Amino acid sequence: MSELDPKFAREILKFGDGTFSACYNCGNCTAVCNLANNDNTFPRRLIRFSVLGLKDQIDASLDPWLCYYCGDCSTTCPRNANPGDLMMTLRRYLSSSYDWTGLARKFYTSKVFELTAIFILALFILLLFVFFHGPMTTELTPDGGVQLNTFAPWKTIEAGDWIMAGFLSFFLLSNIFNMYLKVIWRRKDLKIPVSLYFSELRHLIIHFFSQWRFSDCETNQDSFFTKVKNGEYTYWFVHFLLMSSYVLLFTMIVGFLYWFQTDEIHPWWHPQRLLGYYSTFGLLLGTIYFIVLRIKKQNEKSKNSHYTDWTFLTLLFLTTLTGILVHLFRIGGLPMATYYMYVLHLMILFPMLMIEVPFSKWSHLAYRPFAIYFSNVIMAAQQKTSQK
Ligand code: SF4
Ligand code: SF4
Repeated sequence: MSELDPKFAREILKFGDGTFSACYNCGNCTAVCNLANNDNTFPRRLIRFSVLGLKDQIDASLDPWLCYYCGDCSTTCPRNANPGDLMMTLRRYLSSSYDWTGLARKFYTSKVFELTAIFILALFILLLFVFFHGPMTTELTPDGGVQLNTFAPWKTIEAGDWIMAGFLSFFLLSNIFNMYLKVIWRRKDLKIPVSLYFSELRHLIIHFFSQWRFSDCETNQDSFFTKVKNGEYTYWFVHFLLMSSYVLLFTMIVGFLYWFQTDEIHPWWHPQRLLGYYSTFGLLLGTIYFIVLRIKKQNEKSKNSHYTDWTFLTLLFLTTLTGILVHLFRIGGLPMATYYMYVLHLMILFPMLMIEVPFSKWSHLAYRPFAIYFSNVIMAAQQKTSQK
């Protein structure tokens, strides 16, 4: 049990706006939250931890990752303590507590640091192209396209992709391991048989690929079709579209660039173009949808935007837009426009991946399914113990 440290509330506030100190512990939020049960006073417990400054309990908690930000707790809070937003703030705080490099904390607490990092990484890509780019030929391919691979050979770009993917994987996986140490390994009261890590693995796989937590399916007793009709799955669907598009594009760029970045222009129905169009459509629709939601502040999820939400959406939108322009210029036979746009595209894509995947918003796509997995492992272990 950690010591009370009221100053810790100030530390949490660095990761988002917060009015949680207004909480007078009435319990309305717990009464409406679907995640609350007899053993789990969700989300009130986390609010008390935050107000009292129980750092160790917060660091070891998986609750913020289980919350899907339906906002019901915030709308029913008589003190406007906004527990839903506190959950989001704690997700940012926890991301930085898992990150041993300290960079996540810097990105989440300093706009200047984040913008400077984006600028330096973009400049790095620009300088690489200034000094090492291939010939800029105006000669077109037999089917009227631009020779992109003379300017940026796929083998060179792929080598860079592999180095970057290794960097991202190392930092993200080591942070997830750190999360495991905090939430399971250091708990003295838990004895977890190794077999449970395998039997509960399905939760990780299902939630990583479906991101099902983002559906509001549990909030009322309506039938599935009524919920579809009422648009209750829209948020989850757009989120899924965005996430699947990103994963697909990342896989094609890192693993199959020889197949994805060709000078030959395939017909529109070729799998290369169809998969590229699916990813582009998903990223474009997803980013526009979330930007509009945040501008209009239509629901609880989008009322309180942190600057890192805007950085993430802006970088993702610009990456998609410049990617579309590269494609159009390439098939339209405009060599110089293609080359310059390709450099600009990578100048936005590279900082987006290097910052967002291991240290910021994209890392939540991994932390959330791992939290659901760890939580199921813990529950299964506790059930086993109670049956003995
Ligand atoms: S509803 Fe508001 S005041 Fe009541 S316990 Fe929850 S956060 Fe605190
Ligand atoms: S936002 Fe929804 S899921 Fe999250 S704590 Fe509040 S009521 Fe529970």
